[in-house]
Amino acid sequence: MIEKIKISDRLYMLKDSMDCYSNLIIGSEKALLFDTGSGADDLKTAVRQITGLPLLVIASHGHFDHIGGSYQFDEVYLSCKDRNIVESYEVEKLREWIGKEDYDPKGFQRIKDLDFDGFSLGDIEGQIIELPGHSRGSVGVYFPEMKLLLSGDSLTPVMCLFFKNHGTVLDELETLEKVKKLGVAHFLTAHSDKIMNVSILDRMTECLKNCKGKKFLKYRYSKPPFSEGYFHLYSMKDEPVGVIVESLEEVSE
Ligand SMILES: [Zn+2]
Repeated sequence: MIEKIKISDRLYMLKDSMDCYSNLIIGSEKALLFDTGSGADDLKTAVRQITGLPLLVIASHGHFDHIGGSYQFDEVYLSCKDRNIVESYEVEKLREWIGKEDYDPKGFQRIKDLDFDGFSLGDIEGQIIELPGHSRGSVGVYFPEMKLLLSGDSLTPVMCLFFKNHGTVLDELETLEKVKKLGVAHFLTAHSDKIMNVSILDRMTECLKNCKGKKFLKYRYSKPPFSEGYFHLYSMKDEPVGVIVESLEEVSE
């Protein structure tokens, strides 16, 4: 089941049964679907219940819970830097994770290289922003008129640098600095319904700058893909900020 959350006439969050939130942005001539979810649910019907406009579909990155629904759409654009993730998935594992015995990853053939850096939905323009860290091919979409950035998993306040094709703490730090210069007011992440205020990026930056030699606890992600790493909690406040790395090497003194 897809849960539709309307933020405004032109912005929706579509939450699937694996808690992945795809974003739908509606322009005057076209609509953007950012991420296709895990593939367990009928995302396309949910989109079509909201808009009949031609769709541009872009995946924030190559993890299965963002590209799994690709089979429902004609074409899905993904950074070529995450192509290796798509190619690494085994059918049986995906079926187990998604909980669909007949899941067919043939839909991955509809994934094309993201070869443009901007697009128009008619009355709003979107810019593709590379956001490496969570994965090397992570991208965001920035809408300057709305000062809104769709960020996939790359700006989750607990920064996850331990899944397939992840980058380094330094990559994530550079991504944060890049986003701070864009003029973003708010951003969305793919596993939360919160509209994040850009000010949290300062706390995330401090976390990364100060995490060397700090306490990291062994951590296992409780849902597929059950990756393991080490978790450092930097601060709680209204939204917990921290980082999870795959190996302690880059954060030891
Ligand atoms: Zn991810």
